[in-house]
Amino acid sequence: MEELAERIRKCKACDLWKNRNKAVPGEGNPNAKVMLIGLGPGKSEDQQGRPFVGRAGKFLDELLELVGIERKEVFITNVAKCFLPQNKITEEQAKICTSLYLEKQIEIIDPKVIITLGDVATSYIFRKFNLPKSSITKIHGKIFKVFTLKGEKFIIPMFHPAVALYNPKYKEILKQDWLNIKSFIQKFVLT
Ligand code: URA
Repeated sequence: MEELAERIRKCKACDLWKNRNKAVPGEGNPNAKVMLIGLGPGKSEDQQGRPFVGRAGKFLDELLELVGIERKEVFITNVAKCFLPQNKITEEQAKICTSLYLEKQIEIIDPKVIITLGDVATSYIFRKFNLPKSSITKIHGKIFKVFTLKGEKFIIPMFHPAVALYNPKYKEILKQDWLNIKSFIQKFVLT
């Protein structure tokens, strides 16, 4: 995993490297049963080289605390590893970045539960595991079971924590969604 992180830090496979200060490979327990996937680094993440350390990250910390999970128990990463101006990623950039890195991170960690944060991560994971495409507004907080060669996995799409910063209504929805999966994911964190 560290070798992959080193490659990510030096990556120039698409143009996004030109915008970055520090690439953000992801962090946490490489043996985690629960993996969280966001969109990509914002300003604070780009400065620190760590995922979810800005305002959205603070709210994510609140959500994790709400369900009794510590960051070090899970693995947190993103679809994109380099700073995304305006939080936008093209299909081509996402394809390059995920095939080189996220794909491999999922293979190495082999998590039982994948929690996708927001639309982009959800679409990517739904496509990867052959789940029918759907809008995050319809499927947020639901638990989807998939069968893979490595056994069953659970995919849980969530709204991105950043939406709560723009629209406080989502703060309560997000808290409720996370509370609803609390006992389910704790089983995986504790085993
Ligand atoms: N938003 C994301 O999607 N990922 C981060 O790491 C930070 C903010």
